[in-house]
Amino acid sequence: CGIIALIGSRDAGPIILEGLRRLEYRGYDSAGLAAIDIDTSGAGKLTCLKAAGRLVNLTKKYDELGAPGFCAIGHTRWATHGKPEERNAHPHLDGSAQVAVVQNGIIENCQALKEPLERDGVVFTSDTDTEVIPHHISQQIKYLQDEGEPVSSRLLLKAVQRVLPLIQGTYALAIIWEAVPKALVVASKQAPLLIGLGSGEFLCASDTPAFADFTDTILPLKDGEVALLTPLGVELYNEFGVEQQRNPVLLTNVE
Ligand code: GLU
Repeated sequence: CGIIALIGSRDAGPIILEGLRRLEYRGYDSAGLAAIDIDTSGAGKLTCLKAAGRLVNLTKKYDELGAPGFCAIGHTRWATHGKPEERNAHPHLDGSAQVAVVQNGIIENCQALKEPLERDGVVFTSDTDTEVIPHHISQQIKYLQDEGEPVSSRLLLKAVQRVLPLIQGTYALAIIWEAVPKALVVASKQAPLLIGLGSGEFLCASDTPAFADFTDTILPLKDGEVALLTPLGVELYNEFGVEQQRNPVLLTNVE
């Protein structure tokens, strides 16, 4: 029911948890976060933590286990598909636990999206509608790599752009991939998602309270848009893949 994502050069976990706290008023039954750390060789390492119930349960886990990284996504869930249990909490991962996704909204055709994956041997670990998304993105990443596309933030963007047209329903999405620790992809369809422009960092959230103390410069996603965020900037595309340019607005003017 609430999404938050950060990419920049600060340890993202505490900012994600604070953002989730600011979105608590929206209501939720469980919460989770995923972050990508970069080791000394430059390789990414994804950590995902989830907990049913109050946000304090997730905070406790975070304090115990940690989830380091400059790029992270977080979620508070209001269950629509599957009980409010830890395994149904977001983020949801692909089979190799490299792609992590948080979603607000409802995927109406989740059953139809699940069947071809199951025929390919994908094992689902939750009862949510959301879990089809990381698996489909992971599949498209493989197809693109087979087509000769090198591993890059653009490959992740392309994979997401191939999956979005398959989805019927509503969504705000934030997606990270362990192989590209400095990239975050977000998308929105009939569900609000705002990008806050900081200096050398970007915070995405479902609602304005999450931006307090962070920035007052906001780029709201329009319906059907998808954005690729890196610490260097934002690229925005409409649902047909055409790059969009427009000025941000002041936080106080966000509707
Ligand atoms: N439909 C998703 C689920 O049940 C997302 C719910 C939400 O917006 O929190 O997991």
